[in-house]
Amino acid sequence: MPTGGVRVGCQTLGVDTGVDDGIGRRLLTRVLAGVPAGESPLTHVADLPARIATHTDWPSWADPAVVDALRGTGVPRPWTHQVDAATLARTGHHVVVATGTGSGKSLAYQLPVLTALRADPKATALYLSPTKALGADQLRSVKALDLADTRPASYDGDTSMGERDWVRAHGRWVFTNPDMLHRGFLPQHARWARLWRRLRYVVIDECHAYRGVFGSHVALLLRRLRRVAAKYGADPVFVLASATVADPGALASRLTGVTCAAVTEDGSPRGARTVALWEPPLLPKLAGENGAPVRRAAGTEAARIMADLVIEGARTLTFVRSRRGAELAALTAKRVLSEVSDSLPRRVAAYRSGYLAEDRRALERSLDSGELLGVASTNALELGVDIAGLDAVVVAGYPGTLASFWQQAGRAGRSGDGALVVFVAREDPLDTYLVHNPHAMLDRPVEATVLDPSNPYVLAPHLACAAAELPLTESCLDDFGGPAARKLVDELVAEQTLRRRPAGWYWTSRELPHASVDIRGSGGAQVAVVEADSGRLLGTVDPASACWSVHPGAVHLHQGASFVVDELDLGEGLALVHAENPDWTTQPRDVVDISVVRVVERRDYGGVRTFLGEVDVTSQVVGYLRRLPTGEVLDQVPLDLPARTLRTRAVWYTIADDLLAGLGKRGKRNAPGGAGVIPTHIPGALHAAEHAAIGLLPLFATCDRWDIGGVSTATHADTGEATVFVHDGHPGGAGFADRGFAALVPWLVATREAIFSCECPAGCPSCVQSPKCGNGNEPLDKAGAVAVLDIVLTALGAGGDGDVQHGDSPVQANARSTPIS
Ligand SMILES: [Zn+2]
Ligand SMILES: [Zn+2]
Repeated sequence: MPTGGVRVGCQTLGVDTGVDDGIGRRLLTRVLAGVPAGESPLTHVADLPARIATHTDWPSWADPAVVDALRGTGVPRPWTHQVDAATLARTGHHVVVATGTGSGKSLAYQLPVLTALRADPKATALYLSPTKALGADQLRSVKALDLADTRPASYDGDTSMGERDWVRAHGRWVFTNPDMLHRGFLPQHARWARLWRRLRYVVIDECHAYRGVFGSHVALLLRRLRRVAAKYGADPVFVLASATVADPGALASRLTGVTCAAVTEDGSPRGARTVALWEPPLLPKLAGENGAPVRRAAGTEAARIMADLVIEGARTLTFVRSRRGAELAALTAKRVLSEVSDSLPRRVAAYRSGYLAEDRRALERSLDSGELLGVASTNALELGVDIAGLDAVVVAGYPGTLASFWQQAGRAGRSGDGALVVFVAREDPLDTYLVHNPHAMLDRPVEATVLDPSNPYVLAPHLACAAAELPLTESCLDDFGGPAARKLVDELVAEQTLRRRPAGWYWTSRELPHASVDIRGSGGAQVAVVEADSGRLLGTVDPASACWSVHPGAVHLHQGASFVVDELDLGEGLALVHAENPDWTTQPRDVVDISVVRVVERRDYGGVRTFLGEVDVTSQVVGYLRRLPTGEVLDQVPLDLPARTLRTRAVWYTIADDLLAGLGKRGKRNAPGGAGVIPTHIPGALHAAEHAAIGLLPLFATCDRWDIGGVSTATHADTGEATVFVHDGHPGGAGFADRGFAALVPWLVATREAIFSCECPAGCPSCVQSPKCGNGNEPLDKAGAVAVLDIVLTALGAGGDGDVQHGDSPVQANARSTPIS
């Protein structure tokens, strides 16, 4: 506990406040007691009040046996939002229920679906979840209701051939996922005729997970589903469940293509929660890349916090961003705990999505039984594993969206006793911004979910799949985007993928197109990670990121064991590894080039111009850094891997030379952080502004910084001026660049603020250094970046003082809008 208490929120937190603190405050005091002298990581504390439950009666239309079964699970009376959503669905309205974690959203769809299945012995329903783990969990809870003749069954990649036949012939409520819908149900719709004919409900669980490219794919899949169901005479009601997101009705309607009502008034109770924002300290003796100061890693800090909480007997879940981070956090917590007691380390474990099914089940069981007290997880746990009654949640690194943050935080505080939530900032400009601007985290509505079903790279293959399922007609094109879809269909006809006949457009080949369409947007089959000696399959990685994550020499962690990659064979989809536990971690480096293909929209602000358009991005992983756990760099190892070119969308701005000429002078002023005068170099200033902008875009678009990239240059061949590009990381774009263009001013204001508020002298990973920089974070000029952003913001009419209100509309007072197509 820092002496004198920390002035935070609306009250002063101290060891001896004498106030009857709730559990959250008490746990926080214990955690702070373990902070080394001289460190003051706490930047803000807020107390979120408890919420009282609002109950209502079971609806009269519900089947009494279903009500009895649900009562038997410990629900004497339902909450208002459950019955509101269930009744809308029952009366034929598409509906999305968007309430907090643990608010019993499943009951909202179980009630109408099970009632319908029992009323009509031929009625059927589908359930879709973004992950198998969630689907399995929901299926278990429906089976446990033990209602005669409802025949819930799963049909996914793990279902045996024998079971598949049974489910097709007899399953009434089929639990599956979008991948299987795409590859199994729709292309072979005739084999599922029984299911389609009486399809009453389609349940879409955790629908906020369908964002970006994946969301765009799923939106088109659901349009295909509706078309096929209609062919068999069915018009199913969609029931969606979502985390609390901005405008869930619009999201659900965009996703399904039909108008959805939204139920958002949460009737479930919630314990009071204390939310602490935490910035790990700079470590004075260590130097990172280019001599930058190093902060204690968020995962390490979170592991120490979790260890303190486990010692207190608090059931704690720690969320970290990566699989590797989860493994490391569990190991670190175990190490800390082993100094306290021999028995405590085994009560901590790691959990992540890449585990094979049996590993996952074993961990879930230990969590259920309370055998484990501390679990470090990737956000796999965010989706679907039902863990209640946690005393504390530690979130190491911003999980990408506020919806995810609140969902993770929602694991804490279900009991009436209160709980602690600690957000630990990573070395990342967005995290830096958030711990210094708590209102952006605690008082903001969650962001709009971005998905773009009109992306031609996503839409064209779905049109081909749709035509292969049932001939496309003019009228069904409306549902796929109207004129844009029509234009793509004409292109598909021109390239002889489709054929035009009087009755519509037909798929021409004997082979179906589905297998070549990857709805996860990862572009092909997964790369298997295999231990060379034993032939054991450790897991899989996305092919698009294989060069990045399992390049030769990469250190790969699995279940706490460390492996080093010997060989990456992209042709075979295979990465061979051997067990080895080196002292270092590895960090890949790539080089990126960008060219403008087409300008979609452009605005002129005097010497500053802003653009939205299409670009070609060519990137190649060329080597990797070996780093010690402290962040220190050992060396850089070159690699020879293929380049790949991505056609996508980008937002960019250019600055005229005469405006930049002033930068030399402005750059001579004191650097933020008080490090004295630093000379400004234009490339370094642009590069630093680009990095920080990439880091902050996720505040405005529901993307991850790994979903986007950037390029900056003092003179770009296509613009002829100093240019900073930020581009989507997916073919055709996922709507992120468009969102950045629409929110340009607030985005750049937040970018400037994140750089300016970082206390480092000349740039560090918390502000302008990037973990994915192709140039090894050189050159970077932190003070120059602030000056560049001041120039741009002044030209855009937003001033450079960072005092602009947050919002999503760009300030266009000075703008001349020039749409170009
Ligand atoms: Zn910094
Ligand atoms: Zn860079």
